[in-house]
Amino acid sequence: MFGPATPGAASGIRWQWATQMSTITLHLPDAAATAAIGARMAPALAGGMIVTLSGDLGAGKTTLVRGCLRALGWAGPVKSPTYTLVEHYPLSSLYFYHFDFYRFADPREWETAGLAECFRPDAVCVIEWPERVAGLLPAADLVVTLLHPERADEAGRWLTLHAATEAGERCLTAMTATTGDVPPTA
Ligand code: ADP
Ligand code: MG
Repeated sequence: MFGPATPGAASGIRWQWATQMSTITLHLPDAAATAAIGARMAPALAGGMIVTLSGDLGAGKTTLVRGCLRALGWAGPVKSPTYTLVEHYPLSSLYFYHFDFYRFADPREWETAGLAECFRPDAVCVIEWPERVAGLLPAADLVVTLLHPERADEAGRWLTLHAATEAGERCLTAMTATTGDVPPTA
């Protein structure tokens, strides 16, 4: 016996857990709004958190990370670590790793580059192109998706924030705590 033939108590418990997790969708009219969401995320991040950023090239993933790092006090450049795979930002408050797996092709690189060591309880890992390392990546707490509008005449981007764990849920709650809503503009 591998479980109930029809939805029963066990699957009901799992479903109830899933529905406790929040998803927020909002429109970001310009790049400043994308950076502002990153800035709002910054104080809500805690050590050990994993945030994934999905979306096409040019969707605004790095812009969001830049806004986040600026709010954490990083004044230097924030470039997409497309060739290095990961960039480390030595902040006073926490270890911050920014990954970009767009060019990740060889799974052995995960070991040779020592990437697993970045995922620690005292470090925040923010990851562009997580789809390219599916199976290697630990489970995400916050799943961020940036989309170009479907209509060509619509400006900006659509953003979805999905809390996948209780840590992610705490982050979302903190992000929306001050106004009860996430402001769509900077
Ligand atoms: P990605 O890292 O997803 O490839 P970038 O963060 O490099 O994307 O952003 C690509 C371009 O999109 C940049 O010129 C940036 O200023 C712009 N951009 C970011 N967010 C928005 C937005 N909400 N509306 C319009 N342009 C945006
Ligand atoms: Mg990028």
